Amino acid sequence: MFRALRTFAPLVVTIACPIFAGAQQVPVVSPDQVWSDLAAGNQRFVLGKTAPHDVRAQRQVLSKTQHPHVAVLSCSDSRVPPELVFDTGLGDLFTVRTAGEDDDPISIGSLEYAVEHLGSTVILVMGHQSCGAVTAACSGGKSESINLDAVLSPIAPSCAQMDAKHPETLDLAVRDHVHRVDQEVVAKSHVLKKAVDEGKLTIIEAYYSLDTGLVTKLR
Ligand SMILES: [Zn+2]
Repeated sequence: MFRALRTFAPLVVTIACPIFAGAQQVPVVSPDQVWSDLAAGNQRFVLGKTAPHDVRAQRQVLSKTQHPHVAVLSCSDSRVPPELVFDTGLGDLFTVRTAGEDDDPISIGSLEYAVEHLGSTVILVMGHQSCGAVTAACSGGKSESINLDAVLSPIAPSCAQMDAKHPETLDLAVRDHVHRVDQEVVAKSHVLKKAVDEGKLTIIEAYYSLDTGLVTKLR
């Protein structure tokens, strides 16, 4: 997917790598270009014409380092794997997945790692059609598990956006939750806020349609 992306930018930045001593030269790619590459990969996925991925060659190239331009925070739903949805190869996406794309400390810490140490310049927060976590959170029922409650309770504020009498309005809660997560990852992380303020990080909100396979950029 990112063949063009890797040859696109003439600029490089230097980042500290905690795993391998020494500075790492990372190509700088504009957020627009990153989204353009993601959208192109998604279009291939939608059409069922995904690109061949030489995983053996990619594995060898990536055995000692990684510089994913994009960190994805998305739902664990088995139908929405980011690497397939965007037709990417090894090393393209740093992926953080929880049911309902929660922004708990572990998720945010993982995103900080991608931005600070791997050179990711875009975070993609992605929700999806008919999300089971959002459905459960908005059902009003009480879970018998404190762990499941921890998954559902962060979603609850977005349920006000839907009409409980009309389940088809669930999408409004899904999209609102994506937006809240976008705002919260910055509010909860001085590392990510600093990167945004310095123009080194862009956060993109997106929505995946189970019906069509299409990912729509929300903002
Ligand atoms: Zn989901």
